[in-house]
Parts: sequence; C-alpha cells; structure tokens
Amino acid sequence: MRKETIPLILRTIPSPGSRVGFTTTIPVEVLLAAGCTPVDLNNIFITAADALARVSSAEEEGWPRTVCAWIKGIYTTLRHHPEIHTVVVVTQGDCSNTHALMELLQAEGRNILPFQFPYPRHQGQLQQQIEALATACGTTLAAVSEVWQGLQPLRGQLAELDRLTWETGQVSGRENFRFLIASSDFNGSPVSFAAELGDFLAAARSRSRQAGGVRLGLVGIPPIFTDLFDYLEELPVQVVFQEIPRQFSMPYRCQDLTEQYLRYTYPYDIFARLADIREAVNQRRLDGLIHYTQSFCFRQIQDRLLRQSLNLPILTIEGDRPSPLDHRTRLRLEAFVDVLRR
Ligand code: SF4
Repeated sequence: MRKETIPLILRTIPSPGSRVGFTTTIPVEVLLAAGCTPVDLNNIFITAADALARVSSAEEEGWPRTVCAWIKGIYTTLRHHPEIHTVVVVTQGDCSNTHALMELLQAEGRNILPFQFPYPRHQGQLQQQIEALATACGTTLAAVSEVWQGLQPLRGQLAELDRLTWETGQVSGRENFRFLIASSDFNGSPVSFAAELGDFLAAARSRSRQAGGVRLGLVGIPPIFTDLFDYLEELPVQVVFQEIPRQFSMPYRCQDLTEQYLRYTYPYDIFARLADIREAVNQRRLDGLIHYTQSFCFRQIQDRLLRQSLNLPILTIEGDRPSPLDHRTRLRLEAFVDVLRR
C-alpha cells in the first residue's frame, strides 16, 4: 500500500527581499527586520477583483460551505501567489480554522512559521514567541527593536488620521478604513505608505471641519461586504470609530515592541476589547454601534457580551462572502440610523 507522506513543519529561513504572507496581524516588525516584504493575506484576498470567485473555487476543491469565507479566500489567494513561499500562521489568537489552513498549506509544501499570541496575555510568553519568530526569519531582537523604533513616526501619523476622523471630521470613515486596515502590512513598504499617508494628511488638514449627523462605531472583524461604506455614506452617517482596523495600527504609545503587542486587543480575551470600545463610545460621542459578525465565526457568540456590557444601541449584521449588502441588511441599517437620528 502506498503511504502518503505529510511533511513535518518545514522551516526554512525566508530570503531577504522575499514576500512573506501572514494570516492575521502579527509583529510585522520582525519581517521588516529580516528584510522581507510583509503581505497581509486578508488584504490581497479582499481587494482582488475576483474575491468572490476565490471563495467558490475553494469550495469546488472540497472546502465545506460552512467554513468562514476569509479562510477559503486566503487559501485560493495563495494559489495565485506561488512566490509567497513562507506564511506566518497565527495558531493561537485567531481561530482554529487557521490551524487547519496551516496544515493544508504545510502538506502542499509551503514554508510555515507558526506564531501564537499567549492566552491569557503573558509578557514572557509573548516575548518568547517574538524571539522565536525572529530566529525563524534569520534576524535578531535588536534589529526588530530598531525597526519598531523607526516605525513610531508612522504609527503617530496613523493616530493623527484617526483623530482627524473623530475629532474634526476632516477624514471620512472610508478613508480612515483604507489606511488603518492597510497598516497591518503597510502595503508591503512602510516608506511608501508613510509618504502616501503624509500627502493625504496634508490635504485632509486643509478641508473644513465636519460636525453633526449620526456618529457610528464599527466593531468586530473587518466586514466582508464590498459596498458597506458606499451605503453608509448614502444614509448618511459618519463612521468615527473602527475598532479592529484601529487596533491594526497599534494606537497605544508603548515602551517597546512586546508591550505594543500585549496591548493590541484583537488576539486575546474580549474584556480588553470591551474597555477599548467603551472608551471610544465616550470620547468619540458615539450614537450607536454596528457590530459586524462573520458567518461561521466563533466571534458571533461575543455579540451577547457586547450588548450586556455597552450601554448604547447596537445593530448586529452578518456577512458571508465578498459581495454587496443584501436587501435585508440595507433595510436594517437604514431603520437603525433612522432611530438614532430621531
Ligand atoms: S472571521 Fe472568524 S472564523 Fe473567519 S478567520 Fe477570522 S476569526 Fe476565523
């Protein structure tokens, strides 16, 4: 009988200059210190013109219908990018779907570097994970720390973009989302990204201030809908808080890299997320929250805690695949905004 050989986790050091993918936000400073180009696989999946077809293609290959579309999209997207040989897979702090994705990619011969956010938060364990990733990428903690220091002005620019969104209204929710969501990998180049953001901020500061209208926060994982901002602008509302994209930008001023990723709320328990959202509700004077949930995602369960812990109107919407808003969700959003406006 012929035996299939499933390779052990292959770990080769990615060569400097190579593109290295990752499945959710990781300490990107490590990849940059190693001279690699970071690629957030979620971003290249969802911005692909054929994102929906990529999900269907995974299903045609046998992926269950009842698995989150982000995972299936990432899987097919990697097929389109054979040059991304190394993938950093977050095996703790995201979800078990990612774990299975890792095994599949491993069996197909990708170079897999697992990374775990400790649960519960633990400074020593996180430090060890960062060090292990640095070693696996052929770099050192000293080099990583230097990159971290060098990124501080860019992280300051991102915080300024966010302030111009909620405090002065000179940046729209769509623009806020565009930059914050891309801050997980800086579109591959922190230098070009900082230049683009700098030009954008200069233009935004010359705009007149916007006030009034319904002020919303968007919480939960980034929505998979393709036209959410188009519709919210039609209503119209101001989206002045985007929980997870803001977290990707690492908004807290910290003493070092480990502290930065300890304060990052997404991969740990929900309680720090709740504290962060509560602060935003007060500081940004939010009228209501949209809680985006993804079909087949365990995070849907957290909706209950969100509602129990926050004292403001919350509309929960659910998306499945990269597609426009369905009629029912549009109606629910419209009715929610109507109530808030009154
Ligand atoms: S949306 Fe949920 S199920 Fe999908 S990859 Fe993210 S955490 Fe996992």
